[in-house]
Amino acid sequence: MSNKKFKIIITDCDHPSVEIEKKILSEINPELTLETCTTEEDVIAVASDADGIINQYAPFTRKVIKSLKCCKIIARYGVGVDNIDVEAATEHNIIVANVPDYCVDEVSTHSIALILACARGIALLDRKVREKKWDFTLAKPLFRTQGKTLGLFGLGRIARMVAQKSLGFGFKVMAYDPYVSKVDIGVKLVELPQLLTNSDFISIHVPLTDKTRHSFGENELKLMKKTAYLINTSRGPVINEKDLYIALKEKWIAGAALDVMEKEPPDWEDPLVKLDNIIITPHISFYSEESYVELKTKVAESVRAVLKGGLPRAMVNPQLTKRKIL
Ligand code: NAD
Repeated sequence: MSNKKFKIIITDCDHPSVEIEKKILSEINPELTLETCTTEEDVIAVASDADGIINQYAPFTRKVIKSLKCCKIIARYGVGVDNIDVEAATEHNIIVANVPDYCVDEVSTHSIALILACARGIALLDRKVREKKWDFTLAKPLFRTQGKTLGLFGLGRIARMVAQKSLGFGFKVMAYDPYVSKVDIGVKLVELPQLLTNSDFISIHVPLTDKTRHSFGENELKLMKKTAYLINTSRGPVINEKDLYIALKEKWIAGAALDVMEKEPPDWEDPLVKLDNIIITPHISFYSEESYVELKTKVAESVRAVLKGGLPRAMVNPQLTKRKIL
């Protein structure tokens, strides 16, 4: 390794501190700066001569990437890289690293928590008790979970853990995922219409892509059971919220629980937010004190590995492993 002092920029970060990153990166003694970039111009102004970049929400468009003169890695705090033009980064020989597995436990537990909250009427009853109404019948009808069908839309890391965790509640688990052909965890693979018509709970676990955007709209919601619940901890736009509002209002389905919305935060006057048969949490599934530490540690380790001439443990453009990077 040369004696060059690396320049590392954290373009933006909503965590309370970056001490973990500083500690891990101190091994390569970098010049490390924390910025508050929100626009392309902000990033171009501070990052053009950076060797390594850590990023949360700031945009890395083709224009931004073109302006980076010596960057070897953009490491994102998180799983999704929708704010980074990965194709442009690859063309410019820049590794894009993410952390695909830091919160599988948290998101799967949150999904189960939302499923159980729907199954037991928890959120509604809690609101009623605070209104001094001590009346369990307000949540009727509720059904036991034993023997009910949990349908998973997408069967990746998180959905598999949801499947495992759900077995203790007696759910039969089925999944629709056109990219998975075999499963060995007691999950039955089905086609989408079967998932929609047979499930008592549907939990969504797909990435947001052109194909998955608005996967749940009028047609799909009308195929679901009237007693079924729709749970989403993936990305808001996978559900068409205008259609969901009508479905909940007109009782095509029993209820929904969302950790993610088409617009975050939502418009507070949006009638969807005011319905009694919906539970909403503020995009928190990923979070625990442990997952935060894991995320920050893994991001910093990726940057350190690449600036030392190696590779990160997870990269979005693995085709660069075959090229000369440094
Ligand atoms: P993953 O990549 O392991 O699994 C995604 C699965 O979706 C894959 O098996 C894939 O084959 C499947 N899929 C893709 N397109 C599909 C389609 N059209 N129909 C059905 N299945 C399809 O991802 P993961 O780790 O399980 O995470 C799932 C999603 O959860 C992420 O993409 C992310 O958007 C979201 N997420 C949310 C939070 C949060 O805080 N709410 C945190 C982490 C992840």
